[in-house]
Amino acid sequence: MQTHDTVSAMQQLARETHAAGKTLGFVPTMGALHQGHLDLIKLAATKADVVVVSIFVNPTQFGPNEDFDRYPRALEADLELCEGAGAHHVFLPTKDTIYPEGYSTYIEEQSVAAPLEGESRPAFFRGVTTVVAKLFNIVQPDIAVFGQKDAQQLAVVRKMVTDLHIPVEIVAGPTTRDTDGLALSSRNAYLTNSQREGARAIPQTLEKIKAMVDAGERRAERLVAETTHLLADERRIRVIYVAVVDPTTMKKQTDVEPGNSLLAVAAWLDQTRLIDNTLL
Ligand code: AMP
Repeated sequence: MQTHDTVSAMQQLARETHAAGKTLGFVPTMGALHQGHLDLIKLAATKADVVVVSIFVNPTQFGPNEDFDRYPRALEADLELCEGAGAHHVFLPTKDTIYPEGYSTYIEEQSVAAPLEGESRPAFFRGVTTVVAKLFNIVQPDIAVFGQKDAQQLAVVRKMVTDLHIPVEIVAGPTTRDTDGLALSSRNAYLTNSQREGARAIPQTLEKIKAMVDAGERRAERLVAETTHLLADERRIRVIYVAVVDPTTMKKQTDVEPGNSLLAVAAWLDQTRLIDNTLL
């Protein structure tokens, strides 16, 4: 496995890979890697000949009062994990490489990105779409893998790729969960043991709601109310949003369409912001 920190090295890698008739698969991350990231890397390795992972804590997707400074960083361990999962190349740009002095171009998707995370974190998706578009131009992948864990991000990236005619296939990887059901997240490192116990209410609630749909409930309003009610039982949780949405457009649905409805949740667990979702 090789590491690179320049744009030119990555673009040369793309030229060489494509000249050799091989495909490039790409997994963008912010590091502090966990099994969820590794599963995406393994998925990329089944779909492409050469697998590139990027590790970059992207400052433009953090709001001024968010956790950019304390976001977990674990480069040495990350590199070992990347190699173990089958990555061939890791791109480790500096902030100055991605956003040099005077940088002034941003990409904003204005529909799929508007509700849910977009409402509660105003700068977030503009930062995500900007950095992902830049990384696509740098890495020039044939396929790129994103986690279903961040379902709205996945939908926003798909929309951006369509709208901007970016020649990359977006592949979704399923959410990897811990044995207690909690979706793996780099931010879980912030949780104490007792907070973690509280956080379990989120996946447990999603499962209960999914069971209600499996049993025939279709009214989104009823499901949202029950989700909010179940989460409120855990006193450390403060709900930010609960919604039943179309997984492609992120628009609210009145009735669940089994297989084409997403129950999306964001909540504070004390000071830690967690998101999760399930397809209904
Ligand atoms: P991040 O490092 O949090 O920006 O995430 C990088 C990629 O990993 C994104 O595509 C995420 O959706 C994905 N990801 C994060 N957590 C999980 C998880 N538990 N299961 C699957 N993919 C995940």
